[in-house]
This record gives sequence, structure tokens and C-alpha cells, in this order.
Amino acid sequence: MKRILVIEDNQTLAKLIAKKINSELNIEVDVAYQLSEAKLFLKKYKYCLVLADLNLPDAPNGEVVEYLLKKENRVIVLSENIDKNFRENMMKKNIIDYVTKGGVDDINYVLATIGRLQKNQEHKVLVVDDSIIMRKQIKAMLENLFFSVITVAHGEEALAMVATHPDISLVLTDYNMPVMDGLELTREIRKSKSKNDLSIIAVSSNENDAITAMFLKNGANDYIKKPFSKEEFSCRVNNSIEALENINIITNHASRDFLTGVYNRRHFYKNAQEYFSRAVHEGERFAIAMIDIDHFKKINDTYTQEAGDKAIVDLANILRANTGEHDLVARFNGEEFCILLKNISSEDAMTILQKLRTKTQSNITESNKGEQIKFTISIGLITNNEDTLDETVNQADLMLHNAKQNGRNQVATN
Ligand code: GH3
Ligand code: MG
Ligand code: MG
Repeated sequence: MKRILVIEDNQTLAKLIAKKINSELNIEVDVAYQLSEAKLFLKKYKYCLVLADLNLPDAPNGEVVEYLLKKENRVIVLSENIDKNFRENMMKKNIIDYVTKGGVDDINYVLATIGRLQKNQEHKVLVVDDSIIMRKQIKAMLENLFFSVITVAHGEEALAMVATHPDISLVLTDYNMPVMDGLELTREIRKSKSKNDLSIIAVSSNENDAITAMFLKNGANDYIKKPFSKEEFSCRVNNSIEALENINIITNHASRDFLTGVYNRRHFYKNAQEYFSRAVHEGERFAIAMIDIDHFKKINDTYTQEAGDKAIVDLANILRANTGEHDLVARFNGEEFCILLKNISSEDAMTILQKLRTKTQSNITESNKGEQIKFTISIGLITNNEDTLDETVNQADLMLHNAKQNGRNQVATN
């Protein structure tokens, strides 16, 4: 999200909202105090979102909303009106949300909503429904929430989509469809995608409560009954996506090293093992290297353990920055790292490791007291090993030992 327009005649409130959006979400914000001013801004810039007050000096009855929707803007309404019917009528329009602007909590709610919309941009949603009207309606609602949307008309097509688009986060499926119904589709998807990979919400007008239970038992994360309010729809969709994101965060925490952010030993073995078997089977060449900082004890003793930690972080960054995105960089313990370079010749692997060695040699780690710390690394490299992964890592460790014995700051290989 690049730019948001806030239309609000209460200048203090408008400025406060703008300031918070800008500082907390890092999005450019323009502020208009009345509709005429807003029109000028809208001519000048393209806005990804507009927050609009219903009661403006030159548009006292919510005229701003019609204007904005006609010009195809995404709108969050700010209002002082807490009347239930008024709010319901407003929600029927194609707005994202209706927020009463009472106090700090409301501003925080607006901020959280924008933050949610921002993250929604990263998610792809698949809508499965045999009714073209329903597909269009749900697609429009999801796009209003900033999701990218794919629609298909039946279960078989949906399965093909899920198989070819691994980045789909959520499937919204109808129940009654010809050939493969939503329930069977859910069962099929769950054969290859767990709840941690992909979320499924069933959307159906079926009056039978048993169907709801069946969906949930067969792997759906949630169920939305037609007819539904736009608010219920948004909340359930956002909740499912948030749950998925939280699982990702936890999984990510479990597989990464706390100090450096590179992978930990556990993740390395899990991921490397899968790759190792395939690479050996297909004859793909790869390299495994063990890396250890030379005389690291001295850094700790001379500059404190904290400075030692900074050196470890610097090294991790060098390793990450100079290897490919599909390679694996892991911290095994202390100042010891293991790297798996995928699909690479022995020569190219050697070139990369020598580069890692010289980059480290020329790096300067600054201690908290401003002291400049220099250090070197020793590397043990194994290329094209056909034994087990464990054995390959052990051999790389042996090579590392040789590099240390031969005077450090060098790459030793088989
Ligand atoms: P060599 O060149 O033979 O590798 O010498 P070295 O001093 O690096 O020897 P060694 O690998 O035995 O020493 C590692 C030291 O790293 C021992 C330990 O106190 C320290 N260490 C282990 N983990 C950490 C850590 O997370 N942070 C810091 N700052 N030090 C650690
Ligand atoms: Mg060491
Ligand atoms: Mg060590």
C-alpha cells in the first residue's frame, strides 16, 4: 500500500489518524477537511484506500461515500452515528468497514484493519462456486479486502488450481456443485494440504446442520451460512487467514536460530535430508560445508561475549548474502555453521566458499564500545558425496579440522 487519503473535518482527529498510519504502517497519507478538497487530491493521486467521514462541511449526509464508490475507491467509513439501522444500511454499500470514531480504541481498530488489508495483499484466495452470480459477488468482496482472487466453477477445476498454485492460502467452497461437491473437494484437498498449509471455508445455504459438522470433520476450518452479512464474511475470512499466518510465524520460530535468524540444526537436517535423497537419486551435484570462526574464544575474552555474538551475527549475514535463496544456511552451535549448496559443481562451490572466506576476512564487526573486530573462518568442504547425509556432514567436519590444523583461514576439501 502506497497512499491513503483521510477525509475528515475534525482537524485534530484527521491529523492524529494520518500521523499514526504514517508512523506505524509506513504509508503516505494525505488529509482533506472537506469533499471539494478531497476531489482535488483524488485528481492528483491514486489512493489504495480512503477513510471518509460521513459528515463534512460541504457533504453533510454521507455524499462522500457515493462519490468515492462511483470512482472505484476502496472505502472505510468513519462515523459518529451509532444508530443500528443507519449502520446496517451503510454496510450494504460496497464499503470495507464502518467505524465509529469515539476514541483511541477506534483509531487503533482502524490501524489494525489497514494492517490486516496490507497483509491480505500477500494472500491468494480460490473461490469455488457453480453459480456465476455468487462467484462474482464473493470475488468482489474479497478484492475489496485486498486479496488476489481466482474463481472456478467446480471441484475438479479447483483441485487442479490448488495443485498448480501452491501459493493459494484460502479456498472458499460452495457445497452443492455438480460432479464433485464441496465436501468431497475438501476431503481431496486435505489429502495433500494440511490446515497449516491452506485454509478452507465452506460457504453454503444448506439448511442441514449435519453438513456443517461434516465439513468441519473433513478438514474445513470454518463454515459460512448463506445469506451472510458482509461483516461476518470479512471477519471469518480474516480470522482464517490470521490463524494461518500465526502458524507460519510459530513454524518459522521453531526452525530458525534466535540470535542470527538463519535456520537451526533441526531444520537443516529435515530439509537437507529430503533434498539429499532426491539429489543422490537424480544425480544432482551439491556441496556441504562446515564453517567455524578461528580463535573465537579470543574475541569473547578480549571484547566480551556480546561482541562475540555480534561477530556471529555478522558471519551469518555474510553467509546468507553470498549464497542462493534455495541453499541452506544453518547455525549448528556457537560459532559453527553448516551450509548446503544445491545443484552446484565442485569448482563453483569452491569459488563461493573462498568468497565467503575473503568477505569474512575483510568484514569489520564493531563492538558496543566502538572497537573494530576482525576475524577469519576455516571451512571444510565436501562435494558429491554419495553416502548418508550424516556421514557427509561428518566428513565436512573432518575437513574443517584439517583446515584448522593447516593454519586456519582456509578451505579444505576432499
Ligand atoms: P578454533 O580456531 O580452533 O575454532 O578456536 P576457537 O577459539 O574458536 O575454539 P572453540 O570453537 O573451541 O571455541 C568456541 C567458543 O565459543 C567457546 C564458547 O565459549 C564460545 N561460544 C559458544 N557459543 C557462543 C555464543 O553463542 N556466543 C558467544 N559469544 N560465544 C559462544
Ligand atoms: Mg572456532
Ligand atoms: Mg567452534
